[in-house]
Amino acid sequence: MSQLLASIAGAATPGQGPLTGRDRRLRIAVLAPPWIPVPPSAYGGIEEVVDLLCRGLVALGHDVTLLAAPGSRSHAAVHPLLEDVHPDEIGASIYESDHVASAWEWIELAARGGHGFDVVHDHSGFTAVAMADRLRVPLVHTLHGPFDARTARFYARHGHRATLVAISRSQAARAPAGARIAAVIPNPLDVADWPLRVRKQPYLLWVGRMDPVKGPDRAIAVARRAGRPLILAGPVQPGQESYFRSLVLPHVDGRRVRYLGEVGGASRRELFADASALLMPISWEEPFGMVMVEAMACGTPVIAYPRGATAEVVIDGVNGMLVADEQRMAEAVERLGEIDAGRCRASAAARYDPVSVAQRYVQVYREAIARAAGGPGLGARP
Ligand code: UDP
Repeated sequence: MSQLLASIAGAATPGQGPLTGRDRRLRIAVLAPPWIPVPPSAYGGIEEVVDLLCRGLVALGHDVTLLAAPGSRSHAAVHPLLEDVHPDEIGASIYESDHVASAWEWIELAARGGHGFDVVHDHSGFTAVAMADRLRVPLVHTLHGPFDARTARFYARHGHRATLVAISRSQAARAPAGARIAAVIPNPLDVADWPLRVRKQPYLLWVGRMDPVKGPDRAIAVARRAGRPLILAGPVQPGQESYFRSLVLPHVDGRRVRYLGEVGGASRRELFADASALLMPISWEEPFGMVMVEAMACGTPVIAYPRGATAEVVIDGVNGMLVADEQRMAEAVERLGEIDAGRCRASAAARYDPVSVAQRYVQVYREAIARAAGGPGLGARP
């Protein structure tokens, strides 16, 4: 226990006084998922977001502690909760509940030791929302996944316990009754982390997990119609093996269709920067789609089906094109010359800047703190 208290004292600085004043520096605990370290070395959309958000919050002068998987690094103080990472067991309840229960214990001990937090910002899954009213401070929860029949039921029942933030308007519009969306805040991206490239290679690019909803098989069909080479990159996660083996792998010939596996670091950036376009032939309500913004930061246009957030992220004719089917996606490849790489990047820089995103979250934190102080108890139904 004394080790725990020592780590709390190391992560936190003394409290900043009473909750008054709009500019008061906040003490924020950011709870990342337990599966992979922040920042991710390759696949990891949520971890990428958490990393950039911490960067933005620290840049604004807030006192931020990141509770995350072991091996995490951040501009914030970092406290790992579990002993191991679990990249191949994403969603396993035994690790998620251990992670959240350990976080709650640590946050409670911090408060008892005089280093209490003002707000907890959760990105970790479902357990934290379900258990939010066991905390003495408000929980802000970013919705990283889509609302489907299962998740809608969960949020209808438990969403009132937290302050919910959606990452796109289309995601927010699908929230079930009872799950009030406090704000829509897009994911952050720092364009400075990505190289702008004006002269492109002929290949088309698809990047993502090998899930049918992301459409790597449709990307193959589009590239074939367009007569362009295609590069695929992304992990085959547990449960995706048979789809990958039957619908993707047979087309990989190392020439017209290349599969690079999971990519990270400089090779991921170069892959995005050199591509003629990123293809998003999705078949689900994409809640955000980090890959689109990463491509745009490199001046690489995105050709997407207009589902979920793609119609918010892609500005037709400016940073990409919205098309209805494979044939039109192949035809759009012919018109890529109409997109200016600089404007493409500027569209991402303006909308997803990490400090602006962090500012919008700080506003949500302050409102949640004010509500918890003056309004009904956190556990009360609206
Ligand atoms: N990614 C990566 N390496 C890969 C495949 C994906 O680093 O081989 C990254 C990708 O660049 C993005 C994230 O994983 O940052 C995927 O996020 P996105 O929102 O596009 O998809 P989802 O979260 O739905 O899987």
